[in-house]
Amino acid sequence: MLPFARVTIIGLGLIGSSIARAVRQHMPSARVTGFDADPAVRETALRIALCDDVADTAGTSVIDADLVILCVPVGAMGAAAAGIAADLPADAIVSDVGSCKESVVEAVRTALPDATFVPAHPVAGTENSGPEAGFASLFHGRWCIVTPVAGTDALAVERVREFWKRLGAEVETMAPDHHDRVLAVTSHLPHLIAYTIVGTASDMEEVTQSEVIKYSAGGFRDFTRIAASDPTMWRDVFLANKEAVLDMLQRFSEDLTALQRAIRWGKGDELFELFTRTRAIRRSIIEQGQDDAAPDFGRTHD
Ligand code: NAP
Repeated sequence: MLPFARVTIIGLGLIGSSIARAVRQHMPSARVTGFDADPAVRETALRIALCDDVADTAGTSVIDADLVILCVPVGAMGAAAAGIAADLPADAIVSDVGSCKESVVEAVRTALPDATFVPAHPVAGTENSGPEAGFASLFHGRWCIVTPVAGTDALAVERVREFWKRLGAEVETMAPDHHDRVLAVTSHLPHLIAYTIVGTASDMEEVTQSEVIKYSAGGFRDFTRIAASDPTMWRDVFLANKEAVLDMLQRFSEDLTALQRAIRWGKGDELFELFTRTRAIRRSIIEQGQDDAAPDFGRTHD
C-alpha cells in the first residue's frame, strides 16, 4: 500500500520538482499537485507536465492532500505554512525538505499549531535551481534525515519514512538540533569555505581574473561548483543555523591557525599526517557509496 495517495508539493524548484518526478516514477498511482509562488515557475511546471495538477493558489493546492511537502527556502517556510493554514485537511501530514531543522520546526509549528508535522531533509542536491533542474533519481542511495519532535504521532513518522524509502533514499531519524550540528560541519561549513575561496580569488589584485579561470584545474574549479549554489537558499541556511555554523567555524579557524603555524615552522610531518587522514575520509565516502570512485570527479581526460 502507498504511504500517501495525494501528495502536494509547495515550491517547484530543484528539490520539489525532483520529488514530483520521483513520485511519478516510483508511485505512479499517487496524485501529485504542485504550487509555486512564482507564476513563471508554475507555467514551466505546466509546460513540462511536472505534476498531475498545478494550482493557482497555495490553499487550493492542499484541499484534498494527505501529504504536503514544503520545498521552499528555509526563510520562506513560515510564510509557505501560513499560506495553507486555512485549507489544510485535518488529517493531512505536513513535511518539508529544509536544510536546517530547528528554525523550520519553530516556523511551521507557529503557523500550523494543530497540524501533524514531520520534518525531513534529503541530503541530496546539485548547484542548480528551478523546476527544470530536478531529476527523479536525485535521492537514490542518498540519506534522508527525518527529524520529528518528541510526541509526534509514530504512524505519521513511519509513513514519511516509508515515502522517502519509496523514492530510493536511505532513511535516518535524528533530533532537529543534532541534525543542525551534523549538517553544519558536513554541508554548511564547506559551502562557507567555498564561497570564501572563490570570493577571495575574484577580489585579488596581483592575480587577474582571467588567470584564476585559466589555471582553475589546479583545484579552484572544484570549489566553484559548490560556490555556484543558490544564493537565496544559502543565505537562509546561514541565517537559520547561525549558532551551529558559528561554533563549527570557530573550530575550523583554530585548525587553520594550527596549519598556518605548521607551514611557518616547516613542520612537514604535521602536514603529512593530516593529509594522510583526510585521504582516508575520501576513501570511506566512496566505500559507503556516497560518491563515485572515478578519479577527478569522473572528468574525462582524452
Ligand atoms: P529552488 O530551486 O530555488 O526552489 C524553491 C522554489 O520555491 C522557487 O521556485 C521559489 O520561488 C519558491 N518559493 C519561495 N517561497 C515560496 C512560498 N512561500 N510559497 C511557494 N513557493 C515559494 O530551491 P531548492 O534548491 O529546491 O531548495 C528548496 C528547499 O530544499 C530549501 O529549503 C533547501 O534548504 C532544501 N534543500 C536544498 C538542497 C539543494 O541542494 N538545493 C538539498 C537539500 C535540501 P522564487 O524563486 O520566486 O522565490
